[in-house]
Amino acid sequence: MSDVRGKSVAVVGYGIAGALIAGLLARAGHQVQRFERRSGAEHGGGLLLAPAAVRILCGLGLEEALNRHGVAIHRVRIGNEKKTLLDWHTEAGFGVGIRRAALCELLACIDPGVRETQTGLAVRSVDAAAGTLTGADGKGYGPFDLIVGADGANSAVRTALTKRHWVHGKPRWNALSVLATIPATCDTGRAPSCDQYFHGGSHVSLWPVAAQTVVIAANVPTEQLGQIHDAEQWKRLLIGLVPAAAARLAHAELIGSWYQWRGREVSLRGFAHRRVVLVGDAAHSLSPQLGQGVRLALQSALSLSERLCAEDDWSLAVRQYEVLQRRLAKPYQRFSRIATPLFQSQHPLLIWARDTCLKPLADWQWSRRRILRALQT
Ligand SMILES: Cc1cc2nc3c(=O)[nH]c(=O)nc-3n(C[C@H](O)[C@H](O)[C@H](O)COP(=O)(O)OP(=O)(O)OC[C@H]3O[C@@H](n4cnc5c(N)ncnc54)[C@H](O)[C@@H]3O)c2cc1C
Repeated sequence: MSDVRGKSVAVVGYGIAGALIAGLLARAGHQVQRFERRSGAEHGGGLLLAPAAVRILCGLGLEEALNRHGVAIHRVRIGNEKKTLLDWHTEAGFGVGIRRAALCELLACIDPGVRETQTGLAVRSVDAAAGTLTGADGKGYGPFDLIVGADGANSAVRTALTKRHWVHGKPRWNALSVLATIPATCDTGRAPSCDQYFHGGSHVSLWPVAAQTVVIAANVPTEQLGQIHDAEQWKRLLIGLVPAAAARLAHAELIGSWYQWRGREVSLRGFAHRRVVLVGDAAHSLSPQLGQGVRLALQSALSLSERLCAEDDWSLAVRQYEVLQRRLAKPYQRFSRIATPLFQSQHPLLIWARDTCLKPLADWQWSRRRILRALQT
């Protein structure tokens, strides 16, 4: 391998993909400058890490920390106010529940330059040809050999890509994730499980992320998003939207800030242009309901850093990354476009189809095996 050390890289966005790519490139000896819009640790809510995401984190040496900070989920249940549509329990499990802040802290541990992150500085624009960027402070930064856009689903760096890169869709869903404690008496005897409750086009999921701490994740109608500012108001809203979850939500004490988000599916023909390359949600944001966002974000950072460390010619390395990552993300993007309307639609026919077909599909060996394989890979 040739000596590729000492190139200059800007990483825009220090979330999941950004922290990982910054850490891996800094460890390989590159000069990494990190830009993050947040000024403090504001990451609220929690995540269910798919088994593939867990494998990546274990491969990075984070297994012990993950065991300490997360909860292995072995059961998934889906139901509405009338019946249980699916109830699966497997030894292999469905992944690990973890607080978003805890995952970000774990990833920051592998970055030797985490303290150098310029926080509270949003990047406003990027010049892909020159490899420079402009912050919201009006100052210019660079030039850099490479600018990595890891700034999430509503990426500012993505605007540096030309028209031939196609961005799919307007904002399509509203997601909310909040942490809560539920008294032990309400959850006694429950194996760690991810419980999903549906009511029409509304949906609430609960899963544990630490002792007596659960995540409550929901999709919320657009007109309600941003209008409710108080934790108790959110609780009442969710109970109203999904009565099947009321018994557990009624006892929930919401903790800290919530993670609220207006999302879109991002589907690009290419992830790179000149000196700019995208990773994570900036390249391929999906509906959160699929639970594959973190896995794809981690995989994209890992794959890009591996190519950059193996190739002296970075434009070639970026092209190789683009091909690999598009191939990985494409089936999930396709599935997200089909499944999201089915699970979040207010259309009576789609609601009927979901509530009628899910149980036979869950019980039928052939489809059960396939769905399990998709959930566990
Ligand atoms: C409510 C909700 C629940 C979810 N639940 C799950 C789940 O259970 N499992 C799962 O796998 N996935 C889940 N996802 C998806 C998952 O969160 C994302 O796929 C993942 O966070 C993508 O990582 P990322 O690093 O690409 O982006 P992000 O984690 O969004 O990080 C982007 C970072 O860039 C910063 N930033 C943004 N703009 C700028 C700018 N202009 N300049 C500088 N910095 C900027 C942001 O502050 C942020 O820190 C969920 C998403 C939502 C919204």
